[in-house]
Amino acid sequence: MSISAKTTLLILLMGIALALSAFYIQRSIIFPAFHDIEIDYAKNSIDRVVRRLEAQRETIDFTTYDWSAWNDTYTFIQTGDPDYIESNLYPDTFLNLGLDVALFLNLDEDLVWGRVFDFPPEGEIVDLTDTYIDELQAQLADFTGRIDPEDDIDDQTTSGIVEVDGIPVLFTMRPIVKSDGSGPHKGYLVFGQFLDDDLIARFSDQIVQDFSIAPAPGTRASDTYTLKVIDQSALSASKIYSIEGKPVLRATAVLPRTITELGRDITYYGVALLVFLCTLLAAALLALFRWIVIKPIMSLKADISSISNAMDYSLRANIRNNDEIGALSREFNSMLGVMESNNSELLRLNAELTSKHQKVLEIQDELQAANTELRRLSEHDPLTGLSNRLALEKKFEQAWEILSRTGDPLTVMLADIDHFKLYNDRYGHQAGDEALKQVAAILAGAIQRKSDMAARYGGEEFLLVLPGTGVDAAMDIAAAIQEQIRAANIEHDRSPVRPFLTLSIGIASVVPNSDLTMDDLVSAADTALYRVKASGRNSIACEPVGTTVR
Ligand code: GH3
Ligand code: MG
Ligand code: MG
Repeated sequence: MSISAKTTLLILLMGIALALSAFYIQRSIIFPAFHDIEIDYAKNSIDRVVRRLEAQRETIDFTTYDWSAWNDTYTFIQTGDPDYIESNLYPDTFLNLGLDVALFLNLDEDLVWGRVFDFPPEGEIVDLTDTYIDELQAQLADFTGRIDPEDDIDDQTTSGIVEVDGIPVLFTMRPIVKSDGSGPHKGYLVFGQFLDDDLIARFSDQIVQDFSIAPAPGTRASDTYTLKVIDQSALSASKIYSIEGKPVLRATAVLPRTITELGRDITYYGVALLVFLCTLLAAALLALFRWIVIKPIMSLKADISSISNAMDYSLRANIRNNDEIGALSREFNSMLGVMESNNSELLRLNAELTSKHQKVLEIQDELQAANTELRRLSEHDPLTGLSNRLALEKKFEQAWEILSRTGDPLTVMLADIDHFKLYNDRYGHQAGDEALKQVAAILAGAIQRKSDMAARYGGEEFLLVLPGTGVDAAMDIAAAIQEQIRAANIEHDRSPVRPFLTLSIGIASVVPNSDLTMDDLVSAADTALYRVKASGRNSIACEPVGTTVR
């Protein structure tokens, strides 16, 4: 894996780790914090709703207190004085007070006067007394028992909710006493208000919080809130509204989850921004890394490749960075310097070696030539150029071995110049040498086969070795030699034989075998030669040895 790939992977992993931790922080810290804020907000909102209802109850109680502790009312409840009704209890009074329900009950809980109105926001006042008054009176009569006349006048009050025709009525009841608050009370005054949709809508406007109510009799009084997430954008919060410790209504508000949405947006955008910044940073880091590290390394690698391909150690890497890669390049260049000087020294030594080698080859050639010459000299007679005794012995051994296997004859011819001493005496030693050369040339020319040999055997004696040649053929050769000698006509006027140089020849032939030796053959030729000498010279004789092949 390349360094570049490793770095990319590392930065990528770092980016992923950062994004994951950002996601984790958002999920487990920021988002729950926003959720808590939302919960608090929801609780506050529903508390405001409940406080608004309670404020309304207090308002009604305040009005009820105002009217119930009044001498005129005190008198009216006892007398049913129509003047009181005429001067106080007309519909507009209740419209102004915001009250829908008014009941004046005597101590027997009988209705002295009572009215139920509907005040629509627009239009005529509707009198609902006949429809609801009996039901209201019946329900409200139960509440008189809650008022204790022994209490302080301020505390002689009771409130609650009764339901008529499915609509909750918030009411307050007080005993009717004198204006100074003294009793004994002579009846009960009840003021109430329909908590209908119009009123709830008005309250919602006032507290800027939509809500709804539902009767909650039988529920346990508690301060607990019921929070329900409806969907991503809405939350419902409800709470029980209790009067005098008794649960009467459940108020419910549906709240937009703007905080959560805001929180979600903030964290999502935050994470997105973080991821974007991480990516940007990673890309920048990667680019920087490529610029600072990878590019110079690749450039150095290219330099090294081209130098090693060209095998030219005088070239240098071009990286001049003032960093570790630059240091590497400088080290490489100094190594190239050493290699360059070593290389030139090596080339010089090589040239030297080549020239020395050339000389050795020349000397070798000379030596070989000298050797060849030496061998030639060692095996030849210097005067006549014929083979000498050494070469002769070698030849004998070879021929003997080969012919003893093939069964062919080996014939030798011993030739001796007649009266050569006299020749020397007459013509001088130097002329003798020349004559020897002439005879030798004739003998050398007489042999016909490559395997034949003409050798100088002694002073003026010559031996011809003729392997594979029989006696008859040898006799012919001898005769031819005699003829040529005669034809050469080398003057020898002191010779008792002829006035020219003559030759005596003794021949012996044998098929080589283990019973005979080479010496036997030569001495047989010598014997033949002796016979020629003894019988007048200048002739040819043959001496048989063993089985002679003709
Ligand atoms: P024969 O007919 O019995 O062979 O008599 P001959 O004189 O040839 O034989 P002898 O052995 O008595 O003499 C040989 C002579 O050959 C003696 C010597 O001076 C001569 N001779 C031997 N070698 C050389 C040589 O290399 N050069 C010269 N010039 N003479 C040589
Ligand atoms: Mg001799
Ligand atoms: Mg002789």
